[in-house]
Amino acid sequence: MAIDCNRFCPEVRLCCQETEMTITRKDAKRINALGYSTSDYSHRVIGSFSELKNVDGHCYFYDPASKECKIYEARPEGCRWYPVVYHYTKRKCLGDDVCPASPNLTRTEIRNVCHKVRRLVEELRREAAHGESPC
Ligand code: SF4
Repeated sequence: MAIDCNRFCPEVRLCCQETEMTITRKDAKRINALGYSTSDYSHRVIGSFSELKNVDGHCYFYDPASKECKIYEARPEGCRWYPVVYHYTKRKCLGDDVCPASPNLTRTEIRNVCHKVRRLVEELRREAAHGESPC
């Protein structure tokens, strides 16, 4: 079960503006199955992670006219759990401070996805460490 953006954040979609969302090989495989090429929508960043590209200040997949994600059902896993993030120093999951909708998250919602967020962070770190990020 993912965070439902349409219920949780019907208008703002701040996370889709100047996005720094990281992607895994599994994300890229799922998105590429829709006909996209990894190099079109992602780039390699410091630390060897792969992130979504921005076009005109928003994510490659964001449609400013409809204010929706063009690949919502296939969006990266990080987008599915956002604004729940894993805080390494505090060793716990939190709502991201920069998201104005974070205060709307319940403890139950955070707890329900925390293990998935932690597993995703480990996967991203492992792929980056082995030079296996998707682009
Ligand atoms: S993939 Fe979709 S949900 Fe994720 S940042 Fe891009 S537009 Fe937003």
